Amino acid sequence: PVKWQTDACFEAMTEVFLDATPGGTAAGGTALQSSARTTGGIKLALGSHNARSIAAALAGLEKRNLPRSAIELQMLHGMADQLKYAAAEMGLRIREYVPVGDMVPGMAYLVRRLLENTSNESWLKAGFLDNADVGALLATPAGRPAPADLTTIAAERHALSPAVEGIGNSKAFTTEPFRDFCESHTRDAFAKAVAAAKVPAIANDRTVEQGAEMVKRADAAFPAWRDTDPKVRADVLVRAAAAMRVRRDELSGVMIKEAGKTWREADADTCEAIDFCEYYARCAVGLFERQRLGKFIGELDEQLHQGRGVAIVISPWNFPLAICCGMTVAALVTGNTVIVKPAEQTPGIAKLMFDILQEALRAALAASGGTALQSSASDILHFCPAPGETTGAALVRHPRTALIAFTGSRDVGLDIYTAAAPGSPFMTPSLRDSVTHLKHVICEMGGKNALIIDTSADLDEAVLAARQSAFGFQGQKCSACSRLIVVDEAGPTGPAITHFRERLVEATKALVIGDPTRPGTDVGPVIDAEAAAKINGFIERAKKSGLSFSALPLPSTSSLPLSVSSSLSFVSPHIFWTVPETHELAREEIFGPVLSVIHARDFDDALRIANSLPYKLTGGVFTRKPSHIEQAKREFRVGNLYINRGTTGALVARQPFGGFAMSGGGTKAGGADYLKHFVDPRNICENTLRRGFAPEL
Ligand code: NAD
Repeated sequence: PVKWQTDACFEAMTEVFLDATPGGTAAGGTALQSSARTTGGIKLALGSHNARSIAAALAGLEKRNLPRSAIELQMLHGMADQLKYAAAEMGLRIREYVPVGDMVPGMAYLVRRLLENTSNESWLKAGFLDNADVGALLATPAGRPAPADLTTIAAERHALSPAVEGIGNSKAFTTEPFRDFCESHTRDAFAKAVAAAKVPAIANDRTVEQGAEMVKRADAAFPAWRDTDPKVRADVLVRAAAAMRVRRDELSGVMIKEAGKTWREADADTCEAIDFCEYYARCAVGLFERQRLGKFIGELDEQLHQGRGVAIVISPWNFPLAICCGMTVAALVTGNTVIVKPAEQTPGIAKLMFDILQEALRAALAASGGTALQSSASDILHFCPAPGETTGAALVRHPRTALIAFTGSRDVGLDIYTAAAPGSPFMTPSLRDSVTHLKHVICEMGGKNALIIDTSADLDEAVLAARQSAFGFQGQKCSACSRLIVVDEAGPTGPAITHFRERLVEATKALVIGDPTRPGTDVGPVIDAEAAAKINGFIERAKKSGLSFSALPLPSTSSLPLSVSSSLSFVSPHIFWTVPETHELAREEIFGPVLSVIHARDFDDALRIANSLPYKLTGGVFTRKPSHIEQAKREFRVGNLYINRGTTGALVARQPFGGFAMSGGGTKAGGADYLKHFVDPRNICENTLRRGFAPEL
């Protein structure tokens, strides 16, 4: 909401309270309000320093023939004294209040006051500092833009890309708002959609030969798709986004059942997929316009881009829609033909995405009036559900593959990176002779992310953020916090770390483990039995090594869900305390709900520990010291750093996502430069000092 709405709401609420005030004679209340009046009603205590709001209340009294004693004004000691004197002179009842109590908890209140009173929109500032016109100060807050325009106001304020003429509704990009599950109608509709959602049964059975056939067809379709009008390609993405919006809850429901995501996690995944489509559609159009470099006389220097060729998209299961969709549409919109190889655990949601994209592709090609249609949708985009080690590996190694967009584990990423190089061991001399291009690899890998809790951290925020970052989606996010570095100058059992420990344990106990199809569930199952065994292996070894820990008990198996895929398994959230930096728990990506708490002597030590691993994906700091915030910005070297918030939940265009070093190639999905990795740049220099023209025959 904007300020005038708050003021208008305040006045409307005043009217409601005055309606329920006993003794009034004016009619006009509803039956309910009248009955409140007869059953005693209420007395309004109006807390405001805004003269307009107070005047509106006085007018309300007059309208109802209520005496001035029917309300009480409440104002803060030491503030707007002139207003108090004037009100007292008018015979109004005033209660002057002053905050009492402990200094430290009171700080939050004082800071809020400070922010309010110095706000540029504050009535007090306008009245007392800016000497605003009386007419403006007393103007009604009603009659401003109607609420319908609010979406436009918000959109303009939060725009993340320029609008592009001819793309969808030609609006600037803003992120898709999440479902508000506080609304009962939203909850009911979502629950229905989850219950009805069906996971397509897809076998991961495409063979190496079938993969090779797809590459052949995609390769043949490439030139026509590369030369298609970029707006037609952008149109595919906008159409796909629209289709996903229509089926939004169904898509989330499929992920809940196939991957064990909780409601909010699944909804966020679907929103992100829509965001990738809308954002890349807008970024792509400009990328394909010829850009003039300089304005040299007699010379035209231009930069342009073109798609690279056949792109293989290899995606993980943990964001089974968003990541798969993001890589696929980025490759498509930049003029590459694409083969989608989804994770074996989540081919169902990938198939729905593929069908939506195929449909959008057909519709966009048809709407383009056939200008582009030398290749058909089924040649441009292929679906290849298959095992990674066989068909996936073969797709990577195929000589006609031009680009590999991979997101997944470090080991697989390194294998793909090596296999894509012309010097890779699988390249026989005869194959090397037939090499026509360098393969381009976009490689996003794992993390071992640290969250630093400084001594000055606001623990109310830090505890909840740590809990969510570590255990949201059962810790199965590349961005998840798995190392919690707590600063305590008094040592590993000092008061700061002990206090934090008590609070984190209590907060974690409040998590509900259970069926992710239910709205109240915080922690669902991990992806499959194999993952559970791997995570439990880490847990058992850590216990054997003598580390102390806290763990949530798992609920009895009878209360655990049967409504989600039967291969999904439960692992209880574990927190290990005072983990040495060198312990495997503190060094290896575990990809489950296991959090290691590591002690740091001071902030420098905390940063040293945080930076000590080759993973450079996400990181976070909770501190109230400005100098430490600045130091973290300078020295905490990760792809995505979060200050005074959790480490997960990056939004398209606001927090372009991805790491460097052993976490990835720094390509930043959802960022303005991401699409450049999917294209070859070309430069053209033309001498324009022509010596006459030759006729065009
Ligand atoms: P994974 O590496 O096991 O599998 C990813 C994909 O690679 C799957 O489609 C799989 O079939 C395929 N694959 C496996 N072996 C292959 C091979 N030899 N050749 C070609 N393809 C092969 O990863 P996962 O378990 O699906 O996902 C979890 C991992 O992904 C974690 O390490 C996580 O940190 C990482 N991740 C990173 C990001 C990021 O943006 N950096 C985002 C999400 C997940």
